[in-house]
Amino acid sequence: MKGHILLVEDEPDISALVAYHLARESYRVRTAADGQEGLEALHRERPDLLVLDLMLPGMSGLDLLREIRRRAELASLPVILLTALREESDRVEGLRLGADDYISKPFSPEELVLRVEAVLRRVRQHPPSGAGGTLVQAGPVTIDTDAARVEVDGVPAELTPTEYRLLLVMAERRGRVQSRTQLLEAVWETRAEITTRTVDMHVQRLRAKLGDAAPWLETVRGFGYRFRAEPPRR
Ligand code: CA
Repeated sequence: MKGHILLVEDEPDISALVAYHLARESYRVRTAADGQEGLEALHRERPDLLVLDLMLPGMSGLDLLREIRRRAELASLPVILLTALREESDRVEGLRLGADDYISKPFSPEELVLRVEAVLRRVRQHPPSGAGGTLVQAGPVTIDTDAARVEVDGVPAELTPTEYRLLLVMAERRGRVQSRTQLLEAVWETRAEITTRTVDMHVQRLRAKLGDAAPWLETVRGFGYRFRAEPPRR
C-alpha cells in the first residue's frame, strides 16, 4: 500500500475512474460524494492525501478546504484540487487556502496519479521524526530538516508540506534569485499544466505564516523570488 487517498467528487464516473487508477497503483482509496461526507471520512480515516473536486453539491470544495485548514489536526493535510478550466478564480482561491496542487478537468487519470505521487514524495522526504537534526538557519528562520519543523524567531510556524518544501528550497539557496520555473521544478517536480501562478500563491501564503520574517522572502521583479542573505532594510 503506497498511501491512503480520500477522493471527494460527486460525479460517479470521474470518481470511479480516478479510484480505479489509484487502486491499480496500490493506493488505498476511499471516496465521498459531498463535502459533509468528506469531512466525516477525513476524521474517521486520516488519509495521507485528499483529492478534492471544487464543484460539489451543498458544501463546496472551497468551503471544505477552508474548514480543513481551520482545524489544527488537518492543517497540514496534502490536498490536490480538481477544477474545471473556467474556474480560474476558484483555483486561485484554492491555492490561497493552501491546496498543494491542482489539476484541470478534463484530465488524464495517469497525470493525476503522477501528481499524487509527487505530493506524497514531498511529504515523505521530510518525515517528522521528532528528533532534533540538521538545522538550516536563514535570517530569523530556523528549519529542522529531520523533524520538518520551522521556527521564526523561536516561534513554531505551521506549514503545509508544500509550503515547507518551498521555504526549505528558498532558504537553502538564500541570496540567489529563484525563477518561478526553477521553483516549480524544485518544489512541485512536475511541469505539465501547472502554472507559475501556483508559485505566487504559495509564496503569499508562506509570507503570511512567516509574520515578521516575511520581508526576508523578497520578490525580484521580472525574475522570481529570493530569500535574502542579509537582513532587509527597515
Ligand atoms: Ca463535481
